[in-house]
Amino acid sequence: MIETESFRQVCNFVKSQYPNKEFIPLHAPVFNGNEKAYLIDAIDSTFVSSVGEYVNQFERMMCSITGAEYAVAIVNGTNALHMALILAGVIDDDEVISQSLTFIATCNAISYCRANPVFVDVDRDTMGLSPDALEKFLIEYAEIRDDGFTYNKLSNRRIKACVPMHTFGFPCRIDKISTICDTWNIALVEDSAESLGSYYQGKHTGVTGKVGVFSFNGNKTVTCGGGGALVTNDPEFAKRAKHLTTQAKVPHKWAFVHDEIGYNYRMPNLNAALACAQLEQLNVFVENKRELASIYKSYFQDQQIAFVTENEGAKANYWLNCILFADADERDSFLEYSNENGVMTRPVWELMHRLPMFINAQKGDLNNSEWLADRLVNIPSSVR
Ligand SMILES: *Cc1c(COP(=O)(O)O)cnc(C)c1O
Repeated sequence: MIETESFRQVCNFVKSQYPNKEFIPLHAPVFNGNEKAYLIDAIDSTFVSSVGEYVNQFERMMCSITGAEYAVAIVNGTNALHMALILAGVIDDDEVISQSLTFIATCNAISYCRANPVFVDVDRDTMGLSPDALEKFLIEYAEIRDDGFTYNKLSNRRIKACVPMHTFGFPCRIDKISTICDTWNIALVEDSAESLGSYYQGKHTGVTGKVGVFSFNGNKTVTCGGGGALVTNDPEFAKRAKHLTTQAKVPHKWAFVHDEIGYNYRMPNLNAALACAQLEQLNVFVENKRELASIYKSYFQDQQIAFVTENEGAKANYWLNCILFADADERDSFLEYSNENGVMTRPVWELMHRLPMFINAQKGDLNNSEWLADRLVNIPSSVR
């Protein structure tokens, strides 16, 4: 068992990275660029709502950053995921394979489609969906039927999509996951909410699957208060996403005609103004975060606490830095000590399959998810 003295040293080291601060938050936004200028400009233009030049500029910037053909600005990451699943064709009673170690938004979006999440394990090193676990699950429980879709032999439901998540900004093995999804005709939707600025094998996260989503919530690497984006290379998807997120209004000079049930999911121009100013600084933010990660990495080399680093082939944005304790007791002692001593730290989310809404969801062996959930702690990671 690690002594309180070493917890004190770790906290002091974290504090030394953020001098002159009484309390060190987990992730605070930084607004040192054109944020105020663009916001004032958006207000002066009177285009504060879902139509405006900043919305268009935001979408162009997301394309150039991620390399996607199309980007659609959405009101938040959760709704972007909902939209992505609709585009992927997920409907009532379908199943969507995801990871239990994720933020609740992933599963909420699946539930908004009246679909059912099925959980497979993550890899210990990437903390994201494991291609081996996915393949094992499919071989054991799934079959491709005459209509060309994959069905779950246990539940008799169609498995329409798979949603891996790039946990804390560390890219998962998306190339292998993509190959498996292709083999089984399962739509790949990437929850890249946490991984803006993260790459796997030179490719930005979010652009390997049919559709990927990002979040610009206040705690993310880049924020616009609240916001999301959907990226895709499919022109039909992009067109449909724009239509559905604007109440499915048929374009017309004056008439209000809507041709299906749509959503009010577009990002307002005010938020887009903030997003554009923040995106201009994405590279600076990510380099700053990677520098902090490398400082943490050398520090923890001499401690009895493991520091999580990016995998081979991956370039992580190090959204939230992660350390691993020997067991849940040691983790709890550290959480208690650090949070009482001015250093904000957090455990991983309660695993999805343990929440009341998903307690009956089918699941594979979740050993790695449980192993990580017992040991992982996020430590302060703000841009300095
Ligand atoms: C933040 C986050 C979301 C949702 O983003 P919001 O913009 O807060 O709605 C979705 N999935 C994951 C994994 C996230 O971390």
